[in-house]
Amino acid sequence: MRVIDLINNAHKTLFSFEILPPIKGKRIESIYESIDPLIEYSPNFINVTYHREEYIYKKREGGYLEKISMRKRPGTVGICAAIINKYKIDAVPHLICGGFSKDETENALIDLQYLGIDNVLALRGDPVKTESTFVPKENGHAHAVDLVKQIVDMNKGNYSDNEIHTSPSDFCIGVAGYPEKHFEAPNFNTDIKYLKAKIDAGAHYIVTQLFYDNEKFFKFRQACLEAGITVPIIPGLKPISVLKQMTSLPKIFNIDIPEALADALQKAKSDAEAKEIGIEWGIQQSKELIKEGVPCLHFYTMGNSDPVKRIVKSVF
Ligand code: FAD
Repeated sequence: MRVIDLINNAHKTLFSFEILPPIKGKRIESIYESIDPLIEYSPNFINVTYHREEYIYKKREGGYLEKISMRKRPGTVGICAAIINKYKIDAVPHLICGGFSKDETENALIDLQYLGIDNVLALRGDPVKTESTFVPKENGHAHAVDLVKQIVDMNKGNYSDNEIHTSPSDFCIGVAGYPEKHFEAPNFNTDIKYLKAKIDAGAHYIVTQLFYDNEKFFKFRQACLEAGITVPIIPGLKPISVLKQMTSLPKIFNIDIPEALADALQKAKSDAEAKEIGIEWGIQQSKELIKEGVPCLHFYTMGNSDPVKRIVKSVF
């Protein structure tokens, strides 16, 4: 079922989570091992991230360096199909602009249709590690809004080859939002304007970047409303599970750790203590978000489902 229909038909806050494809070479069982502990809490949908190619340099004979493109975590679409098949739960593949031409995007969407996958989270993707700014592939999209427009076009039956008459697709489209502003955006309001453009283009709902300060989420939600964004906004949550995340998460995701949480973590003597603090914070955050009427709690598992399980057990 489409995520937007799940939300519209729900009488309570939904629960969803996101998983990463395993490192290349691992078997599908490693995915099931991270999903299984959460199944008893009846997740409504499961997102699977997309990881584009990275470039590595290999030293060759004569001393020259060869630039090699490789994907460490392929398999997003296959994993989604496996989830739907095994658990009968909707899976949402992330689809990015980076590394895709418009034709390749269309082909990927056609594959999804054949597999019965009618949800996508449409994203731009980050710059590749060796580039300082995002560079679209030739004949690819520069911004997520353009990807949304392509999917909406397919939903109207407009494929790239205008001569072919096809039946329209019926994709439900999610997009990303940033309660603490996207790291490249010149300011908060400009970022909201671009988010509005994604909704105006036809996206059905927003999933946010992870955050730890609910006040920032509520301010973001209010700013969206004032900008005319009325689609459901799903908060993204990631329980802190090891001490070093106190400094790594702000750097990677351009977010703040609230003072009270940072103070508590600084007193922790081990990762085990930090994990307990992270879980407790996640429980309080989740309870308040549910009270404030969010449509769904979306958890970033990042390969570690235990903290999410403990939070979900406590709040649902
Ligand atoms: P956009 O909406 O294109 O925005 C990117 C930047 O450009 C913003 O600063 C925005 O303000 C600005 N902007 C937008 N439109 C325009 C315009 N028309 N003109 C000028 N500026 C504009 N990355 C992955 O690689 N794989 C994943 O699976 C993945 N999953 C994610 C899931 C969630 C819920 C979130 C929040 C992020 C995820 N990301 C993922 C990271 C995401 O790809 C990056 O944050 C990326 O840098 C921005 O993606 P976006 O879709 O928000 O881009």
